[in-house]
Amino acid sequence: METRRLGRDGPEISVVGYGAWEAGGDAWGPNESDDRVVDAIRVALDCGMTWIDTAEVYGSGRSEELVGRAIRGRAEDAVVFTKVAPREEGEPGSGFRPEEVRKAIRASLTRLGLERVDLYQLHWPTDDVAVEETWGAMAALQDEGLVGCIGLSNFDRGAIERCEAIRHVDSIQNQFSLLWQDDRRELIPWLESNRTTYLAYGPLGYGMLSGAITRETTFHPDDWRSGNGDMGAYDRLFAPDVIGGNVERVERLRAIAERLGTTPATIALRWVVEQGANTAAIAGSRNAEHVRENARAGDLTLDDATLAEVDAIFG
Ligand code: NAD
Repeated sequence: METRRLGRDGPEISVVGYGAWEAGGDAWGPNESDDRVVDAIRVALDCGMTWIDTAEVYGSGRSEELVGRAIRGRAEDAVVFTKVAPREEGEPGSGFRPEEVRKAIRASLTRLGLERVDLYQLHWPTDDVAVEETWGAMAALQDEGLVGCIGLSNFDRGAIERCEAIRHVDSIQNQFSLLWQDDRRELIPWLESNRTTYLAYGPLGYGMLSGAITRETTFHPDDWRSGNGDMGAYDRLFAPDVIGGNVERVERLRAIAERLGTTPATIALRWVVEQGANTAAIAGSRNAEHVRENARAGDLTLDDATLAEVDAIFG
């Protein structure tokens, strides 16, 4: 599995990592069993995915607990990323005031069974606390050795620059895939020149790009892809007026994959990795077979002609 450096001075990380949002067992419907989730995470490490991305809000801490279970006894093998979220106006996180962030990391470390996480991220912005105040608290956690790298998720360039003036922003985690290319032309090249790693979430279009979803697919009512939830991506990816067009494009991707002897998921992940020298993809799944397949993207080679062919479908 190819690796890249996290931020300027962080650890080498595999170009495909494991996403543990689903493991929370809430926003994607219930876990079939916690044991299966733990197994999927361990398979990820066995297959060369060196890192796991989780957050305090995934299943209100359950995802972090299952990650902790999965890495027990092998924490040396696993690079762990987690996040703190805002709490104003009923939001589910611990909050962005310095004392709240300090409390949040302690709680996350307890759930994970660790003394330090490799990357701590602000999950999404809030207007209620100045980002400088929160970022100063993140830098202090770094100085104390409770966190290795520090990063932002779902922040725009202006906010990144305000943070950068205080302490280097090691990573940005944003939505990015063949079906969601918003950061491709400007943000990703700029971050590369700043030595900020771009961590792409939703790189499989939340399953759409794996080829496993058809117009007839029905989702568990607790799975946000059913339309019950407030994920903006639903309208662009799964809503009745767009799903047919997306499925049709993925069928064209499948034809390319079959010709190359691989799968749509591996091409979708590799395409993300190819968009920047500092880019890595977070692939989420509770299924060990998916994880084995996704890990293969880490060594896949796509030549320029194939990348252009894929771009012509989704561009
Ligand atoms: P994704 O694009 O990785 O897709 C996940 C979906 O695809 C799941 O339903 C999974 O079962 C399915 N899937 C995965 N591999 C498959 C395969 N090989 N074949 C068939 N189906 C497959 O979307 P995601 O999980 O939301 O994103 C990855 C990770 O990014 C999350 O787990 C989380 O860690 C992170 N994330 C962060 C934010 C944020 O705001 N920072 C938002 C969303 C996700």
